[in-house]
Amino acid sequence: MGSCENQEFECKKQKPLLIEGPIIVGAGPSGLAVAACLKNNGVPSVILERNDCLASLWQQRAYDRLKLHLPKQFCELPLFGFPENFPKYPTKHQFISYVESYANHFSIKPIFNQVVEKAEFFQSIGLWRVKTQDFEYFSRWLIVATGENAEPMRPEIAGIEKFDGTVVHTSRYKSGSDFGNQRVLVVGCGNSGMEVSLDLCRHNASPYMVVRNTVHVLPREVFGFSTFGIAMALLKWVPLRLVDKFLLLAANFTLGNTDRLGLKRPKTGPIELKNATGKTPVLDVGALSQIRSGKIKVMNGVREITKSGAKFIDGQEKEFDSIILATGYKSNVPVWLKGSDFFTEDGLPKTPFPNSWKGEKGLYTVGFTRRGLLGTASDSLKIARDIADQWRTIKDTKNICNSQIALQM
Ligand SMILES: Cc1cc2nc3c(=O)[nH]c(=O)nc-3n(C[C@H](O)[C@H](O)[C@H](O)COP(=O)(O)OP(=O)(O)OC[C@H]3O[C@@H](n4cnc5c(N)ncnc54)[C@H](O)[C@@H]3O)c2cc1C
Repeated sequence: MGSCENQEFECKKQKPLLIEGPIIVGAGPSGLAVAACLKNNGVPSVILERNDCLASLWQQRAYDRLKLHLPKQFCELPLFGFPENFPKYPTKHQFISYVESYANHFSIKPIFNQVVEKAEFFQSIGLWRVKTQDFEYFSRWLIVATGENAEPMRPEIAGIEKFDGTVVHTSRYKSGSDFGNQRVLVVGCGNSGMEVSLDLCRHNASPYMVVRNTVHVLPREVFGFSTFGIAMALLKWVPLRLVDKFLLLAANFTLGNTDRLGLKRPKTGPIELKNATGKTPVLDVGALSQIRSGKIKVMNGVREITKSGAKFIDGQEKEFDSIILATGYKSNVPVWLKGSDFFTEDGLPKTPFPNSWKGEKGLYTVGFTRRGLLGTASDSLKIARDIADQWRTIKDTKNICNSQIALQM
């Protein structure tokens, strides 16, 4: 078996590689954050990333006008904050530049173009085997950082294969300029569906947004203060249900009754719902006023897609030039992580936050808290401390093998 000294990595030989520290799968914000925290604790690591860049979700799958949904203080990675001159809601380009300087600051160099196809624990040798298309890597620790949004979700919609126009998932949507003057069906009314519809309006397209389920729309700010920030502060002192009541009062006061616009609210409050199901409330950045003015049309569920448009469940039929699927993302962990019952069928940890970061036999997860980058920061610090304790013990007892060892399997 070959040996690898953390990120200083130039292995061309196709033989199994023993990694001294943990293997981290994914070079998004979570993978980088945990690598930085480990490094800060003196533990080297190796990051395997399927794409050829850092934070590929942000670089390759995010639309041009995307800004952080939450104020920057809730989106910082640990140990190295945003530059002072960043605005309250950094743009995607600013966020990407921050992530790149973060990696530079900690000299983190992921191994790119490594698609993790399978990872499993080998009881006989007490190691995780992580297989990519090129190599097999072995380590005591496996950190899953592939994200809650690893793959686009494409729901089955009757007849969609017959549609003559363009069908695109938001992961491929860049700007409304590609849809100027078109009639566009936007399927989904989460943050992406709302923002894409707004972007389409700004490029003179006519979006029709399909709202199949109930949705909580909240103002991004109340009296100049971030709604999310207020909720986080209140939660320290006030029971969750009261905080939800406050959020709904603030929403009614600033946005009016959204039910009348076709956006029916769920019976459960926004934070309670988020905690129970992971469904994120929409933070309005302007779509609601376009709905009010009729520029964004809210449609009930789609019954069927036709060659030239859609039939809706209320009997209406409309022609469309394009369809945008704002139908969200899913985790891909079940596809590649084998022999572990730590994750649900949906690829999320069975144990809820704040205990979702640690599994058994050296398995860890970062960024699966349904709390965005705030959850990433808290997971990373805990994982690094936990592994660093083991690392020191192993180092002290000289159990770690730095040089070539023969694997008996
Ligand atoms: C449009 C949008 C806006 C968002 N805005 C915010 C916001 O404002 N604030 C906030 O806190 N959160 C926001 N989020 C949530 C966001 O996903 C996370 O905050 C952040 O990107 C999570 O980082 P991550 O590293 O956990 O996952 P990701 O950013 O998804 O990174 C995971 C990495 O793992 C890699 N990977 C996946 N599978 C494999 C494999 N098999 N082998 C090797 N590599 C693999 C991927 O290529 C990717 O680079 C937003 C999400 C979306 C989709």
